[in-house]
Amino acid sequence: MSSERRLDFPLDIVPKVGSLTYLNDHVRWIRMPLPMSLNHINLWGLGSSDNLTLVDTGMHLDDTKNAWINLIKEQNLTIKDIVVTHMHPDHIGMAGWFVKECNTSFSMSRSDYLQCRMLSADTGDNVPHEAIDFYTQAGMTEGQIKTFIKRFGFFGSIIHPLPEAYTRLKDSDVLNVDGIEWAVIEGRGHSLEHLCFFSKELNMFISGDQLLPTISSHVGIFPTEPKANPVEEWIASCHKLIDVLPQDVFVLPAHGRPFIGAHKRLHALIEHHETSLSKLYDALKTPKRSVDVFDVLFKREIDEGNLIMATGESLAHLNCLIYRGQIRKYLKDGHSWYEQI
Ligand SMILES: [Zn+2]
Repeated sequence: MSSERRLDFPLDIVPKVGSLTYLNDHVRWIRMPLPMSLNHINLWGLGSSDNLTLVDTGMHLDDTKNAWINLIKEQNLTIKDIVVTHMHPDHIGMAGWFVKECNTSFSMSRSDYLQCRMLSADTGDNVPHEAIDFYTQAGMTEGQIKTFIKRFGFFGSIIHPLPEAYTRLKDSDVLNVDGIEWAVIEGRGHSLEHLCFFSKELNMFISGDQLLPTISSHVGIFPTEPKANPVEEWIASCHKLIDVLPQDVFVLPAHGRPFIGAHKRLHALIEHHETSLSKLYDALKTPKRSVDVFDVLFKREIDEGNLIMATGESLAHLNCLIYRGQIRKYLKDGHSWYEQI
């Protein structure tokens, strides 16, 4: 990364997993554990301790639940509202627990609420043939498909059952917490309708996974919507955030450390995807399947653990080139092949 792309990380202190740090009178930074190489998620407590709004909740695991029970007791917290940025398990996992145990309210975007209800209802019993066809056509082997079938339904296992009702938040809404206004800004590409929160007064931006300092968020497609174009949606969202955020806004991301340099990072993310698209286009001088272009798109090794994510990301970039009119797709011997037009 070139020097002008360097971000500022002004805070010296990072809260330990399971604890919190005050950023100012209105915002607390809380960390909860994740059982992966990405070992933490940042959550944000807004307002006063006896009337706290919590943005994101952590994954529904015993470790997280115990950490929450300790933290609530130790800090004497009364949590009144749960707001989640999007439907991924590390963000939404504990929401149902808070509603049940702490009698909180619960708000999020409509698309993510409905999709989460749908996905968490899926179990291992009934893998739809659309999903098997989708990954088979992408080029996954029989053994890899078997692993996918075995793991189907895992999503629901790390999410506490969602509340049966919620309050919808959408772009341009304003969340008022303890006299501070947080404008709701919707982003797309990482989830269907990802919510971020910007306070002009505090010059702070809670970005969820829509803007991370070092990780390029997953932008991929799934069998439920094979013709989606999330890469173009993601790039459009990056441009939107450049338009609405001040250059010096303090970004509070879901992973990594809070930083200043939103515009630099957003330009870098756009460049990252555009570079991937042009490398992918060059590779398609000769026909290839989505599993054949992993080395073009990813520096990391693709193994069983990240194959589904990698396939989804690869297909998402291929779809983007199709919508841009640069490549075509055809079916041969049960696989989807892609080549330059
Ligand atoms: Zn996410």
